[in-house]
Amino acid sequence: MEDKTVKNKRRCSFCGRTEEEVGFLITGVNGCICDNCVEQAHEIVQEAVAQQKGKHELNLEDLPKPKEIKEFLDQYVIGQDDAKRYLAVAVYNHYKRLLQPPSKDDVEIEKSNIIIVGSTGTGKTLLARTIAKLLHVPFTIVDATVLTEAGYVGEDIESILTRLLQVADYNVEEAERGIVFIDEIDKIARKSDNPSITRDVSGEGVQQGLLKLLEGSVVNVPPQGGRKHPEQKMIPVNTKNILFICGGAFDGIERKIAQRLNTNVVGYSATKEKVKIDRENLMQYIAPQDLKAFGLIPEIIGRLPILTYLNPLDRAALRRILTEPKNSIVKQYVKLFEMDGVELIFQPEVFDYIVDKAIEYKLGARGLRSIVETIMIDAMYDIPSHKEEKFVVALDYAKAQMDKANLSRLQVV
Ligand code: ADP
Repeated sequence: MEDKTVKNKRRCSFCGRTEEEVGFLITGVNGCICDNCVEQAHEIVQEAVAQQKGKHELNLEDLPKPKEIKEFLDQYVIGQDDAKRYLAVAVYNHYKRLLQPPSKDDVEIEKSNIIIVGSTGTGKTLLARTIAKLLHVPFTIVDATVLTEAGYVGEDIESILTRLLQVADYNVEEAERGIVFIDEIDKIARKSDNPSITRDVSGEGVQQGLLKLLEGSVVNVPPQGGRKHPEQKMIPVNTKNILFICGGAFDGIERKIAQRLNTNVVGYSATKEKVKIDRENLMQYIAPQDLKAFGLIPEIIGRLPILTYLNPLDRAALRRILTEPKNSIVKQYVKLFEMDGVELIFQPEVFDYIVDKAIEYKLGARGLRSIVETIMIDAMYDIPSHKEEKFVVALDYAKAQMDKANLSRLQVV
């Protein structure tokens, strides 16, 4: 009798548990499913979908060629041709490496990680972000300043890969062919070139940790990032095929370059050959030795074989940045006004004035936006209610707006 009642009880058709044994049952046409099994089924579906995505086939024919990659970058980033070419080639070679058939001839294409040196605000992050738009592999930007050696306050080095796993929806295979941009790499430089200096927590130790990632090894990654917890389940990720692009301002590195060039000149003088050095822009002569002099360990430098630089932005570059990129600040404002049915026109002298101010306050490209914002704030406040058809920003108007603004607001941190 009792057996019969048990038999008649509604059960999950998947795990066989009765209604009382589970949270709740969902009834279908010929059976039921419990909340637990629904969750498990959901996970299985997610994994299957992720694997399907991972199978997104790369095909060299369809991939952008270096020239096309550079042309794409040109639409968003002004100048910096050298860096663009290096990046374009590196990304293209990255695809080729992923596509190489199992080696029959012992020639294996190895990755060439990149390091980009350039003052703050010259477009390192912009380049990285722009390239991400075009990529067919997972891409993430991480900041080296939050990293510390295991055991110290801050994030473990492995957490760099957490972000990559996250953008790849935890599909390890996908993440293992991704690209990581490590920003502010100069902030983990040793404080002195002298290796005998007492160990510094944030410098050499972190570089040693980073080395493991750069050279290609299996790393246990905490899935949620941050610090490792003993109870957290780690995900092993092989970094062999992950391309690392590092960027840093390396403030003051020009001094190291100048020192090296000066000593070299003595050496060369025997040949009586005078190489003309452009002292205004020393960055273009950057060499691996300068990175070492700045405090990167030689092993790290060896793992970043492609070294390129960004030029400081001059007046002409700033002027172009204001109007030319596809997503330029001026285009954004024109669009904002257009959405209110107002045609926004800047008189060309206003652009020169904005650039002058950016230079005067040493704000660089980052300052352009705050200056335009300061000039436009009143118009943006009033115009939507007035519904005028056209708004012309004349030089006098721009000057008056700047004069009445509290200029201390324009400090860029
Ligand atoms: P970095 O990473 O080198 O410190 P960013 O890439 O963040 O500098 O640049 C800051 C801002 O300045 C960008 O958002 C962009 O608006 C502008 N900018 C800088 N350099 C360029 C450039 N070469 N072309 C176009 N815009 C630029």
